[in-house]
Parts: sequence; C-alpha cells; structure tokens
Amino acid sequence: MRILVDDKCYTSKPSNAGIVTNSIVNHPVDITIEKLAEEIVKGKSFTLSDFHTVDGKISRSQEYWKSQQLICLDFDNEIVKKINGKRVKVKCITKTWEQAKEEFKETAAFMYKTFNYTDNHHKFRVVFMLDEVVINDKLMDGILEEYKDRYPDADPKCFERARLLYGGTEIYVFDYNNRINVNTYIDKLNIHNTYSQSVDQGVLGVQYSLDKYFNAIVTPKPPPKLISVEKNLSLIRTKNVKRLHEILNPQPIKFYTYSETVEYIKKQDIGLLLGIDTPSNFRCIFHEDNNPSASIFKNADTGDYIYCCQSSNCTFGTGMVIKCIERILKCNRIQSLKFLRELYKVEFHQTEWQKEQIEYLDENIRYLQSPDFPQEYPIQYGLIKNYLDDLVKFISISKDYIPAEHYSIEHANVLFFMSLRHFAKICGKSNISRVGDRIALFTYLKYIYKLDEHEIPVRLLERAKKELVMNKNKNSISSMNLINFYSIHPYSEETLSETENKAKEFRGNHFTMKGISKEMFIRALGEEEANRIYPQMKEKKVSEKSHRITKELEQAALQLIDEKGWTTESEILKLIDGIVEGSKDSKQRQMKKIIGELCIKYGIERKRANKILLTELGIGKIYNDEGIECYPFLLIKVDNL
Ligand SMILES: [Zn+2]
Repeated sequence: MRILVDDKCYTSKPSNAGIVTNSIVNHPVDITIEKLAEEIVKGKSFTLSDFHTVDGKISRSQEYWKSQQLICLDFDNEIVKKINGKRVKVKCITKTWEQAKEEFKETAAFMYKTFNYTDNHHKFRVVFMLDEVVINDKLMDGILEEYKDRYPDADPKCFERARLLYGGTEIYVFDYNNRINVNTYIDKLNIHNTYSQSVDQGVLGVQYSLDKYFNAIVTPKPPPKLISVEKNLSLIRTKNVKRLHEILNPQPIKFYTYSETVEYIKKQDIGLLLGIDTPSNFRCIFHEDNNPSASIFKNADTGDYIYCCQSSNCTFGTGMVIKCIERILKCNRIQSLKFLRELYKVEFHQTEWQKEQIEYLDENIRYLQSPDFPQEYPIQYGLIKNYLDDLVKFISISKDYIPAEHYSIEHANVLFFMSLRHFAKICGKSNISRVGDRIALFTYLKYIYKLDEHEIPVRLLERAKKELVMNKNKNSISSMNLINFYSIHPYSEETLSETENKAKEFRGNHFTMKGISKEMFIRALGEEEANRIYPQMKEKKVSEKSHRITKELEQAALQLIDEKGWTTESEILKLIDGIVEGSKDSKQRQMKKIIGELCIKYGIERKRANKILLTELGIGKIYNDEGIECYPFLLIKVDNL
C-alpha cells in the first residue's frame, strides 16, 4: 500500500506538529503492514492515505485525498469536559489495552501504545487493513462513518481521511493477515469503488492507471466531486424541492419588502446548493471545463455568494444564485426567484398598503415619462430633462423598499432608506457626489423628500442601523451619514405646481448644477431652505475659506461693474487670479455658488449676451481667451438696463 511515512524517529510526542507536517509530505512510500508496524515503534509518524500532488508537492488534505487501505482507531480514554467555561480533557477509561486485545483479535492487524501511554492511563491505537485499496472518497467516508458509529469512544479526529498519526512505543500484533471486507460496504452503501470522477474517465482515468503501474508521482488535477454536483443539479432540474430541503435544511422566514427577500436569497450558499465540496476551485457546471476554472466565494462586504468562472470559453461568467438558477432551469428572473423562495422557505408578503403605494409610484413614473409632462410643466421639465432618467430610476427603486406598515408622518407616503453609494451603484455611476447633487436637485424641487432625523420613525432608524451592521460597513459612522431617509408622495396638480414655482426660483437665482451645494442654497435662500435639502448637514456651516473667496469675488464684481456697468464671470475670476488661494476649478465653483446671492444683494441681473443686448449697452464685441467672439452671461447693474 502507498502512504506517507516520515523519516524522523521520535521518542516522545513531537512538540512541533508543523515540522512533522512539512516533512512527511516528502516521504511517500510503498509499504507492507508488517513494515509499517516496525516503523511506528521506531517513533515515525504516518498517514492512512495517499494524496495527489499539487505543483510537484504532495498535498495532505481531504481535497487531494487519493486512496486509502488503513483505518486507525485512537483510544485516549478521556473525554472533553467544560470546567469553569474551559474545555478540559478528563480521564475516562472506556477501553483498556487488555480489553482491546480481546475485542479486536479477529479484525485488526495490530495495535500500538502511544507516547503518552501509562499503566494508569492507557492510550493506544488499533490499526485495521482493508482487503482492497479504496479509491472512492464517498465510499471511504461511508466506511469511516460506520466505524465512528460503532466506536463512539474513539477520538473523532481519527476518522478524517487526511489524518496524520504519530508513532508509538510498543506493538501488539493481532494478525497481520486480518482484513476488513470492502465489498460488504460497497453493497451496504451502494457506492462503487471507482474513481470519483468516473464521468471523466478520459484524462484522470489514464493518469490514475499510469500512476498505479509505474508507481510514479504524477500531478493529476484535483478530483472534482461531480457525483454530488450531478445529484444536486438533477434535483434542481426536476424541481425536487422536498429532497433539496433535506440537503439545505432552510428555516422558514417572512419578508415584507422585495429588496429584503432578494438580499436574503443572495446570501444563501451556492456551493451547498450545487453540491460543490471545493468551492474555491472546481470544474464549471456551465461549460465543458477540463481544468477547474470556476469558484464560489462570499463577498466580504455584502455577504452575498458569487459564482465566478474564469474561462474564456464560458458563456456564464459571473452570477449570483438567482442567475445560476436561471441558467440551470432555463427560466427568467421571476421564475428563478419564485423557485428560490420556495427552496429557502422565504415568504414574501405584500400588504394592501404596499400595493397601494406601488400604484402611486407607478403613476408618478408614468406621468414623468408622458408627453403631457413637458407640455403642462415646461419650466421644471426644462430643468430636469437631463436628469429625468435618474429621477425615474430613483422612484422605481423605492418600490422595492416600501415598508409593510404605515408610519404616520406628515407628507410621508412612501418611506424608505437607501445609501447614496447603493443608488449610485444601481445607476451605474461612479461619481457619488454628482449623484448626490442630483438627489439634492430632486429634493429642492420637491419630487422627493429627505427626512430630518426627528422625522424618522425609530423602528426604521433601527432597521437601517441593523442593516449597516449586517453589511459590515467598515466605517459605519461615515456610512450612516451616507444613508438618507426619503419619502415620495403621489404627484398631483398641487405638488407639481409647487415644483414649477421652485423651478422658476432656480432659474431666477441663476442656480446651476455646477454650483449646487448647501452653500449655494444658504446664500440665496437662507438656512432653513438649505437644511430642508440637506437635513443631515445641519451642522455644516460655510467655511472661513469660502467667506474669504466670496468676499474677493464680490469686491472684484462690484469694482468691474462700477467701472463699466457690466462684467462677466470670467472677468471676475481673472481679476482675483493670484490674489486668492485655491485652484481655478474651486474658484469657478465658488462663483456658481454665490451668483444667486450676489444678484439679490447688489441688484445685479444675469443675462445671456446677444447682439441686441450688446448694442443696447454699447458694449461692442466680446472675445474669449482664444480671441474668438462669444456671447457669455453678463452681470449687469439693474439701473443700467
Ligand atoms: Zn464556465
């Protein structure tokens, strides 16, 4: 038989297990049972199995287990007890050396005393030999399981196929010709002693037989556990939910929102569902995969399981469990979710309240996308037409977050929370602050409402915090600030007319998307309105630096207007260049933030230049930096108009 036997002899239990572990893999041997017994009493460590090699090195692990002909029962005569919260080994004699001599005389080959054996505390191992080499891992596990049941007082660790065992001091031979009959187990367990990937006799079958005949250490691919995979896949394909329940053992759970349902399902172990024992590396189930190129891993941030195939031949690529099921069952997303809900006993219950809310939101979306909208509310349409897709997406997503019950708050119809990061991700946008600016615009226009902290129902706040913890956000304090609580009302003539007025105000104050910020709103509309748009930034005041730049900008603007009755933004910026700190871009943005306030404060009008206006003001032509004629916005003293 072929096993690993270390070349170092110990006279007591090795204190450094790592040294033995590293050394033994360099010593595969072909050895008889008699010779093994001799080596053991020299103090040599050994394994019960042979293993595959990985990158030229033997890998002693369950995963790379290759074959086995030995079973070893470890009798330590002690049990583990919890004393004062600590796990302590306590002497508990269940089998003495003398009793073992009697009990195993017909079955075992030999037994030996371990290094810690004393006359008062018998510690020994009984070694059995199988009458044939087992090459099927399931069969081997089945046999070991039987022995485990029969000898509950043996150390459970000795039933692991990859186990390493230390040598000992004294041998007692029962009969070196005693053998355990493998056939009885083949019949009983109904597992044939054939190579695990019998499905792929091609490559691995040949390698195995070569190995057998030439006794050479070759490097076959790790054996994929296709038997269990095939079984699970066929159970999924036949929608045998009952049998799958036995494998997965799901606990019934009930959710009220669609998003919670999906989040829960995405956190179920795909490897377990597909019956894949080695999720870190296995042969892809979605394409002809001769080299294992697939893996299943858990996203550390979200807890979601992801199936990923690296092969360029793969048409599946990457997917969550919902996509995997779509592919296996050749079905659509809804059908996949329905099957998974049944599989994981997830009840998704929409209340009447939720259904009603969804109807409102659907109608909001329909109206925003209708041809009536630009006709009936042209000013707001002009303002948001470039961002309409984002608004629709936002409302659409909110449908998945409607809570089951009605929180009684003023204007809070649909109420939900979402992080900016999450929304940006769904929209496929990487610039979170730009997404934040758009949400500020929607809030300013009252298409959506942001809730102030005191308006957020405690239960909802708790759920948000729980979700943050669940998603293990690394910097939860700053993440909490990124979570916003929103409400959306059903749009009506009344609300949209109000929005139309806000859109006029936006234009009237010369607000721009580039300048959108709390400071812009504070300067033109005051603190209260700014806090409505940025309820989580109440503490944030305008900085000293902003004040300094603003002062310079204002003085420059007034100086230029005094001189000739009008000016442009680029003239102002040019004048303060070199006087004020900061980048060109930040000064430009500051200009946009203060323009509304500047106009109100000093009676200045902001108008796009055109030939008529230029003639009226007696300005003549204006040229940009490249010397090309242009028509910029003019800042004009009202008396001059
Ligand atoms: Zn693949």
